[in-house]
Amino acid sequence: MSIDQFKYSRIPPEAEALRVEVRAFLAEALKDYPAVRRADSWMGFDAEFSRRLGAKGWVGMALPKRHGGGEASPFARYVVIEELLAAGAPVSAHWFADRQSGPQILHYGTDAQKERHLPAICRGEQFFCIGMSEPNSGSDLASIKTRARREGDKWVVNGQKVWTTNAHRSHYMIALVRTGENSKRQEGLSQFIIDLSLPGITIRPIKDLTGAEHFNEVFFDELVLDADALIGTEGQGWGQVTAELAFERSGPERFLSSIALLHTLIDAVGRSPDALQSKEIGRFAARLVTLRNMSLAVTAQLAAGNNPAWEASVVKDLGAVFEQEIPEVAQLLCELPPTVQGGSDHAQVLAYLTQMAPSFSLRGGTREILRGIIARGLGLR
Ligand SMILES: Cc1cc2nc3c(=O)[nH]c(=O)nc-3n(C[C@H](O)[C@H](O)[C@H](O)COP(=O)(O)OP(=O)(O)OC[C@H]3O[C@@H](n4cnc5c(N)ncnc54)[C@H](O)[C@@H]3O)c2cc1C
Repeated sequence: MSIDQFKYSRIPPEAEALRVEVRAFLAEALKDYPAVRRADSWMGFDAEFSRRLGAKGWVGMALPKRHGGGEASPFARYVVIEELLAAGAPVSAHWFADRQSGPQILHYGTDAQKERHLPAICRGEQFFCIGMSEPNSGSDLASIKTRARREGDKWVVNGQKVWTTNAHRSHYMIALVRTGENSKRQEGLSQFIIDLSLPGITIRPIKDLTGAEHFNEVFFDELVLDADALIGTEGQGWGQVTAELAFERSGPERFLSSIALLHTLIDAVGRSPDALQSKEIGRFAARLVTLRNMSLAVTAQLAAGNNPAWEASVVKDLGAVFEQEIPEVAQLLCELPPTVQGGSDHAQVLAYLTQMAPSFSLRGGTREILRGIIARGLGLR
C-alpha cells in the first residue's frame, strides 16, 4: 500500500450536470438564511428542509429504486452533498441516515428492515443517530460495556452511550452493543436498530461550547427489543462498524466545516487584499482543491466496493487540520474581533467556528487514532 492509492478521479459529466439544479434550489430555499446559521453546516437541524430534499430525490439518492432511492452514482451524491455543505444548508436531520444508516441497512438488513426504514429515509422523514461511544470507550471502542442479553425471542439492553449526536431528535439509533463474552474484545459485539420512542430509554442533551445541544447521553434500562432489532449477524458488529467508518471519514463534510468562514473572510477582506491576506486565502484555496481531489479518490474506491480505511483517515485528519486553521488564520488576517451576538456576519461566524473548531479533530475518530490507522495502512507499524 502507498500514497499512490489516491488516484485522481474526476466527477463524471452526468453527475456534474446535477450541480446547476441543486445550486438553483439552494439559492431559492436559503435566500434569507443567515450567515451564522450557514456556519452550522451539517450540525443544522431542520426536519422540513430534509423533507423538501427527500421530495427532490436527494436523500438516500444512491439507494436502489425499489427501496425509494434513485440508484444515483456515489459521484452524483457527492455533488449534492458538496453543494449543500458549501451553501451551509441545514442537513443534520437526515445526515446520518443518508450517509451511514441507509447504506448499512441496505447491506446488512433483512427484507423487513429494508422495508421499514429505507423508503422513509429516502423521503427525508426517518432520522437516525449513531450509538458507538460510551463513557471511557471512545477511541478504544472495543471496550464498550452496553450489553444485550437474550430473553426468549427478545433482547434486553442495559448500559449507556454518550456524545450521541441528534439522539434527542432522531427516530432510531444504530447501536453497537456487547452480546457475548469472547477472548478477543472485538468479538461478541452486535449492532441493533433501536426505536428511540421505546420505554427504558432516557436521553439527556449535553450543551457544547456554543451553548447549543447537538449531542446527548443515552441510558438504556432494561430496554426490551424484538428479535428483528438486530442488524447483520450476531457477534459480527465490529466488522460491520469498521466498514461503516470509511463512509464516515472521507466525505466533503470532513474538510468543509469552516467553509462559511472562508466565504465571510473573503467578503470582509474585500477586493483589495494586502499581500498576507492574498497569500493565506490562496493557500486555503489550494488546500481545498487538494483535499477535494483526495476525497474524490476515496469516493471512487468506495464506489468500486473497496474499504479504503486508511485513505479515508488521511482525508479526515488533513481535513480537520484545514478546518481548524481557518478560524485561527482568519483572526490574524482581519482586525475584527469575534462576536457571539451582534456585529458583522464575519464576526459572528468567526466566533461560532472558533468555539466549534476543537471538536473537528475529535468527532468521528481523534487525530491520534487516525494517525495510527494511517501508519498501519502504510505498513509503518
Ligand atoms: C461533536 C462530536 C460529535 C460526536 N458524535 C458522536 C456520535 O454521534 N456517536 C458516537 O458514538 N460518538 C460521537 N462522538 C464521540 C467521538 O467519537 C469520541 O469523542 C471520540 O471517538 C474520542 O473518544 P473519547 O471522547 O472517549 O476520548 P478518548 O478516547 O478518551 O481520547 C482522549 C485523548 O486521548 C487520545 N488517545 C486515546 N487513545 C489513544 C491511543 N491509543 N494513542 C494515542 N492517543 C490516544 C485521543 O486521541 C484523545 O486526544 C462525538 C464527538 C464529538 C466531539
